[in-house]
Amino acid sequence: MTPSQPLKSPQKKINPEQCKHPRVQIVSRDEESEYVECQECGDVFESSELKDMAIEEKKESDEE
Ligand SMILES: [Zn+2]
Repeated sequence: MTPSQPLKSPQKKINPEQCKHPRVQIVSRDEESEYVECQECGDVFESSELKDMAIEEKKESDEE
C-alpha cells in the first residue's frame, strides 16, 4: 500500500492556528485513524481532532 502524499501548497493564505478547517481532504488512513489535510491552510491532523474542533465550533456558530 502506497500512502498518498499530501499536496503541499507553497502559499498558505491562512494561519493554521486561526483556521477553522472548513474543508478537509483525507490524505492517509490506517485501521484506527484517519488523517486529513485542510484545503484552506494545509494543516494535517487526525480527523478525530477535527470532530473535537467542530463540536467546539458549533457552540458559537453565529458567524454569518
Ligand atoms: Zn485549516
